[in-house]
Amino acid sequence: MNSGLYDISTLIKNEVLGFIASPEACEVGRVMQVGDGIIHAIGLDDVMSGELVRLDDGVTGIAMNLEQSGVSIVLLGGMKGIKEGDLVYRTGRIAEVPVGDALLGRVVNAICEPLDRKGPIETGKHRPIERVAPGVLARQTVDVPLLTGIKAIDSMIPIGRGQRQLIIGDRQTGKTAIAVDTIINQKDKGVKCIYVAIGQKMSTVADIVKTLAGRGALAYTVVVAAGAAEPVTMQYLSPYSGAAMGEEWMQNGDDVLIVYDDLSKHAVAYRTMSLLLRRPPGREAYPGDVFYLHSRLLERAGRLNAENGGGSITALPIIETQAGDMSAYIPTNVISITDGQIYLETVAFNSGIRPAINPGLSVSRVGSSAQVKAMKKVAAPIRMELAQYRELAAFAQYSSDLDDETKARLRHGERIVETLKQEQFSPFRLEDEILILYATVKKYVDDVNVEKILRFENGLVEHFRDNHAGVMEDVAARGLEPDLEEEIIRGIEQYRQFVREEHLF
Ligand code: ATP
Ligand code: MG
Repeated sequence: MNSGLYDISTLIKNEVLGFIASPEACEVGRVMQVGDGIIHAIGLDDVMSGELVRLDDGVTGIAMNLEQSGVSIVLLGGMKGIKEGDLVYRTGRIAEVPVGDALLGRVVNAICEPLDRKGPIETGKHRPIERVAPGVLARQTVDVPLLTGIKAIDSMIPIGRGQRQLIIGDRQTGKTAIAVDTIINQKDKGVKCIYVAIGQKMSTVADIVKTLAGRGALAYTVVVAAGAAEPVTMQYLSPYSGAAMGEEWMQNGDDVLIVYDDLSKHAVAYRTMSLLLRRPPGREAYPGDVFYLHSRLLERAGRLNAENGGGSITALPIIETQAGDMSAYIPTNVISITDGQIYLETVAFNSGIRPAINPGLSVSRVGSSAQVKAMKKVAAPIRMELAQYRELAAFAQYSSDLDDETKARLRHGERIVETLKQEQFSPFRLEDEILILYATVKKYVDDVNVEKILRFENGLVEHFRDNHAGVMEDVAARGLEPDLEEEIIRGIEQYRQFVREEHLF
């Protein structure tokens, strides 16, 4: 900072050293300047970057900019009562959070203080919130599926445990819904979940907590919330705290799912913090290291090999775009860091295609090796058929007399689109997904009335549960072997006979 301040700093230091020649002299500093959630202090000579410091009245902060003239400290929490001349104490600790199973079922803030009135959190173990990601040699390839229970995703954009899959789209396109449904679907699958809410309204977070609790999903989930009204520091820290909690489980061999909702707001919080710290602004006024902000976070997801615990962290970061612009600064950054993206569209969402996934722009670069054999086989043609249908439908709307083959292809495409629609909070079992997609892809629903497809398919699932129990489980485990496929076809034909009277056709 300016040299005037430095002079004062040296002056005071000499004064202080003159009075107390003890080693603690560099452990205590003085507040020189008070700003918006940021203070500038001098005298903390040995302070580490990222170290927690304490002020009187129990206020804490984190040392960020270490300069010759002093240290900039971002405060965690309010800054009521802090004034120039106050003392600042080193703690010798890098910011850390409690970790462990005691966190499950809890709602906490960015520094893991409970927000849910369920009493203090006693875990007995802490981890630093920042940590270097595991190296290449500690990892192994992603080949176990992480099922979302959402037909369109499990079939076309499969996710594997340890993968980083971005959910991207404009506001109100169902981004959070996909993440929350995925958490709900992890019930009894041995995956511990972390939902990090960054810069959202606390009422929205409360709704999500209620949803999770109502569906029995809070028992294996921890919610880390840094609301829009919280200081930007807390919003900045919250995803790293979440990652630290996940790492503890990962190293103990557990599979973890972590949702960052959302990283656009995280980047904005970091920009605000950086501007207050007087770091030079770059493109879109973000500081130069904004890429590192998210790369170091998402690198912490992955799958460890057996020698290193064998657990995994699957990350679902969310990014909000403006008017569908995927090529803006933060979206392109995060796209390049992740292993694929699920792209959601407003137009599709408003026309009733929910989840509003654009199959052309959505990809999963590693998940297909984690897909079970049967699903891979059944789902293989879907993406192509959808693309062809879209093209054909765009043409067909201008012509009145279509030949029979075109009509048939349109009918088929329309049914695939309908089949991939799915209500919120209604995850499907993998077996049922395979069955429904099999029936659709093999054209067993092409003569069913479009409006009645969902009814037809739900009925089909029930029919199999009652009359062909175990077939689909075998298919999911062994693949689509000829004898099993025959039985599926027999089951579907049977069901079609039953419902012929129900006017579904
Ligand atoms: P925001 O940008 O505000 O965070 P978002 O993209 O996270 O929004 P959601 O909050 O998940 O979107 O969903 C927006 C609305 O759409 C919600 O009211 C939700 O209930 C509804 N919705 C989302 N997915 C579906 C679905 N598959 N079927 C029906 N309704 C849905
Ligand atoms: Mg949302």
